[in-house]
Amino acid sequence: MTMSDKLQIKTCPTCGSDKIRRVTRDITRKYKGQTYIVPKVGFYDCPNCGEKVYDHEAMQKIKAHSPAYHKAEALVEA
Ligand SMILES: [Zn+2]
Repeated sequence: MTMSDKLQIKTCPTCGSDKIRRVTRDITRKYKGQTYIVPKVGFYDCPNCGEKVYDHEAMQKIKAHSPAYHKAEALVEA
């Protein structure tokens, strides 16, 4: 993992607010009606419009927890 694949976001891509900031939270996702939780995902959250931006690392983590990917590539990076 290198630093170069980290997103650097200073303004919200949706509303342009500079209040967007990086947070780390447990997020809840749904796959085929099944709810699953991905713990401690780092992403950008805009308090102005509610936009959430997930970077590559976050997407990989979400994938690793998704029921859709459990058999194929879960925990490859662990
Ligand atoms: Zn926004």
